[in-house]
Amino acid sequence: MSPGWQDLRQQAQALRERRVGSEELVREHLRRIDEQRELGAFLHVDRDAALQAARAADAARAAGDARPLLGLPLAHKDVFVTRDMPASAGSRMLQGYRSPFDATVVERLRDAGAVCLGKTNMDEFAMGSSNENSAFGPVRNPWDPQAIAGGSSGGSAAAVAARMVPAATGSDTGGSIRQPAAMCGITGIKPTYGLCSRYGMIAYASSLDQAGVLARSAWDCALVLGQMAGFDPRDSTSAQQPAQDYTGELDAPLADATAARPLAGLRIGLPRQWFGDGLAAEVEQPVREALRRMQQLGAELLDIDLPRSELAVAAYYILAPAEASSNLARFDGVRYGHRSRDSSDLRDLYANSRAEGFGAEVKRRILIGTYVLSHGYYDAYYLQAQKIRRLIAEDLRDALVHRCDLIAGPVSPTVAWDLGDKPDPLAQYLADVYTLPASLAGLPAMSLPAGFGSGEHARRPVGLQLVARHFGEPLLLRAAHHLQQASDWHLRSPQD
Ligand code: GLN
Repeated sequence: MSPGWQDLRQQAQALRERRVGSEELVREHLRRIDEQRELGAFLHVDRDAALQAARAADAARAAGDARPLLGLPLAHKDVFVTRDMPASAGSRMLQGYRSPFDATVVERLRDAGAVCLGKTNMDEFAMGSSNENSAFGPVRNPWDPQAIAGGSSGGSAAAVAARMVPAATGSDTGGSIRQPAAMCGITGIKPTYGLCSRYGMIAYASSLDQAGVLARSAWDCALVLGQMAGFDPRDSTSAQQPAQDYTGELDAPLADATAARPLAGLRIGLPRQWFGDGLAAEVEQPVREALRRMQQLGAELLDIDLPRSELAVAAYYILAPAEASSNLARFDGVRYGHRSRDSSDLRDLYANSRAEGFGAEVKRRILIGTYVLSHGYYDAYYLQAQKIRRLIAEDLRDALVHRCDLIAGPVSPTVAWDLGDKPDPLAQYLADVYTLPASLAGLPAMSLPAGFGSGEHARRPVGLQLVARHFGEPLLLRAAHHLQQASDWHLRSPQD
């Protein structure tokens, strides 16, 4: 690909200056998708529709259309329903399902001119941290095909890292944008809960689910987020926030900063609990290096405490399954989903359809969820977990109100592990320890490339996590952008 079109920003500029047409751009990306099929990043690619949309974008541009994403290639995580493509959520339960409507996020990005190339692979119903739970096979890491891509938005992360698309949508319930972005060496943003509509996003845990973006840079994330965010009356938890152009202010230094020290005045809190036992040295070292870079740019680093952060895994793995068990009740072979062929009566039909349609991890979560919600255990588990969720959120809020502007730390305690290497579900749950607090608190958070592991992990990327206040996306993106202006971790490509 022409070196001038590496990321979304450059591609948008090349289109504007007529150095390339959307059709050529889309063809090139389709070729890359074809060439790298063994990574398992896509579940569905619609070549003809994409080329047709690209030609229409070229014609529109010739007629003076200047929409921000006009003609730019994009992919959607298969958790978003789409009228013209199937949406499976990585499950046999929904194999071949076509929705009669488009998710709001899909609709808005199309209205902004984006050309959708296809739907990306994911852990079944977004449950997982390694993308090995997809009913349609795992996703491989473009940096090292032995390694997981991370989950549950592993297909979107691998597609962006391997240059099959410059940006893709994802969803994050407990880390599913940030963790695969970190493991694939790209940039990802999970916005504030409620900023992006959940309408048409197949539900996992509704009080946590949030749509977001995976791309190559903070600037690219800002461009796409600005087009998909904003109030939607069709989602009752959608925040009353207008859509916003996040790219406009990215280059501006912070309040008391100068061009040389654009982050001066920014206080970044480092939770002691996120840098303790369990964090691999090969992850800690690059994360601290990236933080030092932010310090050189003027930011002040200070130690903070998030005393209840260690309870996040226990609380989340009660609350998320509880909500999932309720959300997934609709897949009964009658209202939605796969219907078993050989059943003698209605009960049998429900049982067989669900037994055949759901994979092992989804069944495990449904069992945990119904158990913690059941009479007698509700108070002991579900209610306790809700209280802990509140305490964790208060810890984060206290820190962000009284001590610092951003919280920073690692995304994952280790680099991507080998496919098949963590068969124990609990071991995978524990790997979510640093991403869950921001999810439980509904705070916006990003993952930024910060280098690589060491030794035999020299090709396994490491991510830096930044967390901001509610609706603090402008500051979050700006801090991330300034770091990326002064570093080159996000420019590395597995093909270099
Ligand atoms: N790994 C977490 C889980 O399995 C988070 C998944 C997500 O954010 N969708 O639930």
